Amino acid sequence: MRIFLRLWRLLAPYRGFIFLATILGALTVGSNIGLLAVSALLISRAALHPPILDLMTLIVGVRFFGISRAVFRYLERYFTHDVTFRILSQIRVWFYRKLEPLAPAHLMDYGSGELLSRIVGDVDTLKFFYLRVLAPPLVAFMVLLGVFLFLAWFHLQAALVVLFFFLLAAVGIPLGIRSLSRGIGRRMVEVKGALNVLLVDSIRGMTEITAFGQGWRQQVKIEGLSRELIGLQGRVAGFTGLSGALVMLTMNLALWCVLVLTIPLVAGGKLDGIYLAMLALGAMGSFEAVLPLPLVYQHMEESMEAARRLFEITDTKPVVQDRAGHWLIPHRYDLEVKGLRFRYRENDSWVLDGLDFVLPQGGRLAIVGPSGAGKSTFVHLLLRFWEYEEGSITLGNHEIRAYSPETLRQLMGVVTQQTHIFNATIGENLLLAKPGASPEELVDAIRKAQLYDFIQSLPHGYDTYVGEEGLKLSGGQRQRLAIARVLLKNAPILILDEATVGLDPVTEKEVMGTIYGLMEGRTTLVITHRLTGLEVMDQILFLEGGKVVEQGTHETLLAQKGLYYKMWELQHQVLVEKT
Ligand code: ADP
Repeated sequence: MRIFLRLWRLLAPYRGFIFLATILGALTVGSNIGLLAVSALLISRAALHPPILDLMTLIVGVRFFGISRAVFRYLERYFTHDVTFRILSQIRVWFYRKLEPLAPAHLMDYGSGELLSRIVGDVDTLKFFYLRVLAPPLVAFMVLLGVFLFLAWFHLQAALVVLFFFLLAAVGIPLGIRSLSRGIGRRMVEVKGALNVLLVDSIRGMTEITAFGQGWRQQVKIEGLSRELIGLQGRVAGFTGLSGALVMLTMNLALWCVLVLTIPLVAGGKLDGIYLAMLALGAMGSFEAVLPLPLVYQHMEESMEAARRLFEITDTKPVVQDRAGHWLIPHRYDLEVKGLRFRYRENDSWVLDGLDFVLPQGGRLAIVGPSGAGKSTFVHLLLRFWEYEEGSITLGNHEIRAYSPETLRQLMGVVTQQTHIFNATIGENLLLAKPGASPEELVDAIRKAQLYDFIQSLPHGYDTYVGEEGLKLSGGQRQRLAIARVLLKNAPILILDEATVGLDPVTEKEVMGTIYGLMEGRTTLVITHRLTGLEVMDQILFLEGGKVVEQGTHETLLAQKGLYYKMWELQHQVLVEKT
């Protein structure tokens, strides 16, 4: 019920539309009843051969209801679909807005397939919330009220009989179907979700799956889930058929009872015979409003499960809370870290354990150390993806918490090992960094990133599609694209997080050359476990287990013959062997 109310609140801006579409739905069924009833009356009257003029009003009535039925049906469909798509886009935007601040800290718990399934599948399921859960009972209620009053005016008992059968079809049958189909809606949402996750995972890992000859295993899993989904859909179809048949049965029983009750009245002269068919057919017509009701519970279950899965994510509190109020704008970019301690979860051991350093504006600092030392974690804290607990990080003499996360990220140009390249054109990927960049700025950036000749050599130039994750580009070209983005963004602080890892030594050297150009005039922080090209750094921190164990320039650290020296020598040997 709580989920239902929350969903209803989410639809608040569209309540007017919902009301209008529901009224139109009721008017459509009402016109249908009117058409049946007036036609029956016309035929009964005409059978008595009255002068044609006596029939004129009824003929006009038949025409009116015939046309109004079509017009109302059209308007109802129009508004219903309009409101459904508005609701869907509202839910999608709302969900995305909630999702964004959760990245990346909380979204790690969900795979990309799982998220996709929620954004696409669950949101899509919610389109039925209005269409098949909210609207049918409201329409049925309005129709029942109208038909009951109409019948009661002629014969109260007949009206009560119709009321009984109407409620049986509207409430009794759906409850029966619900108890038979309990859990199917929920299971269907789960299976659809699991299938999505599996499919996305399989497509992403296609190369590995094929290489290890595990294709059949994935196929068996997918087949299993598909079969279960088909089975569930088959059962739903079975219940749909059963409920349809039961509603028809109830409708015919109602018709029969009305006739049984009213025929003696006609025989007794208490009711004019020409109304007989009108009452019976009018009662029958009202059951059109009942037809969609038996499936309301099942769609309700599906919608509630989909909504629960969405709320589960949106209820998660972002790690870094956006506090309302006055944000500062930094004017200087000196970075100072004091006694910084951080761990991902309470009771875990510290990932950063008392980090201290000063990086003056325009300076170059490298944090090096073995894998797992906590280097990337520091970058995450700097970008405000996580909240630190102890110590401080100040930028331009203010704690970084004093700046809005957006402002902070705007100041930082980041090149990582896994730069995400979108499945779009080279131009679109570049403009991501600065959507309004002029052609001159673009050319300047790609020249500095040494991509100009490459782009010129492509038949489609900037309009070349780079494929998913930039697969049509080489590793070096991908990193250059990332560098060009940072150049376009023109951020005063540069963060290079293992920017050349994964590149072969020759490309690495070339990309490093480009990166040196990028460092000019920017406060630079380099994170790496590969000790190459660090001669140009003003200061190097050697991190191990979240603590700085050595500190100095490349020369002084080598001279110390400590851990840095050992690591450098090891890598140097490997490099010499490799080349
Ligand atoms: P580095 O960049 O030096 O290789 P990281 O900063 O990535 O090291 O990781 C430091 C430690 O934090 C590792 O032990 C790693 O397992 C842990 N860690 C990293 N990310 C997370 C996370 N999201 N949740 C929990 N632990 C994490």
